[in-house]
Amino acid sequence: MTLPPNDWTAAGCHRVADGVHRIPLPMPQDGLRAVNVYAVEGPAGLALVDAGWRVPGALEVLEEGLATLGARLTDVRDVYVTHVHRDHYTLGPELRRTAGASVHLGEGERAGVEAIQALGHNQPMESLRQLRRGGAARLAQAIEELMTTEVWEAGDWEGPDEWLRPGEVSLAGRPVEAVAVPGHTKGHLVFHDHAAGHLFTGDHVLPTISPSIGFELGEWELPLGHYLESLASLLRRPDATMLPAHGHPGGSVHERVRELLAHHDRRLDATHGLLRSPRTGLEVARGLTWTRRERPFEDLDPFNRMIAVCETMAHLDVLVERGAAQASYADGLARFRRS
Ligand SMILES: [Zn+2]
Repeated sequence: MTLPPNDWTAAGCHRVADGVHRIPLPMPQDGLRAVNVYAVEGPAGLALVDAGWRVPGALEVLEEGLATLGARLTDVRDVYVTHVHRDHYTLGPELRRTAGASVHLGEGERAGVEAIQALGHNQPMESLRQLRRGGAARLAQAIEELMTTEVWEAGDWEGPDEWLRPGEVSLAGRPVEAVAVPGHTKGHLVFHDHAAGHLFTGDHVLPTISPSIGFELGEWELPLGHYLESLASLLRRPDATMLPAHGHPGGSVHERVRELLAHHDRRLDATHGLLRSPRTGLEVARGLTWTRRERPFEDLDPFNRMIAVCETMAHLDVLVERGAAQASYADGLARFRRS
């Protein structure tokens, strides 16, 4: 492994393993700052893991990165996308249009993609429903108004060439195992190169942050419960070196998974601790601190408040599922209290 630069978002083409290079692509107005696209060289040519966000300049940054490998965009045969979020997916259809690449996405994302296509806009409908269930109707309203200014591009959400099932896939001729890890999104896949000993973790396991839960379209089906199960399932597999979609590569997947499980245990305890009297999701979210910097809820921008309330609802639902809390409903609004 070569030493990464101090700022993981620094543009370029950074070698992370034999025939594997990390090309960070830009992201607009977002705390994550960049998304890692991995270029994989193998006996069958060149493939990418994750495509990136189709924002102005992103394709050019990718092109420059590939040029340092002596490759062009048209050399990319296949793009394996870990999950449906736009910072990972939307440059995929663009690569198909401009360079003829085939796009592969987990079949668990099909419902989400079809829902976005049917909607014809970027409103996060399910998250807005969760906000209303959590007592944050005014925040939902504010998000709706913010999102009406977003430009909708149907081409961003063209379906993939293949709905990928878990199992062996060929990354440029290198056999890797696609593993289903529902939670961050329903159809999230990670890609395990057993021979090389590394795992492309997408957003399922990130080095410094805890990925958002349940920010997607479609039915809300205990996303945190699935996420925690998917984390635990990685501990039952051989450990690997983490190649994440945001942040520096390297480090043990198992070690980071244990940290994330411990983080959610603490969050579940803190959430439970706020339920002495009946509380809405919004009230609980206000009682917790947010981001690694322990910021108060009120300091977050509307988008991140939405993520925070949805995450709180996900924790509350897990407490109910475990019998540690009860929910009562009036007019679609949930109030939670300890059992
Ligand atoms: Zn994501």
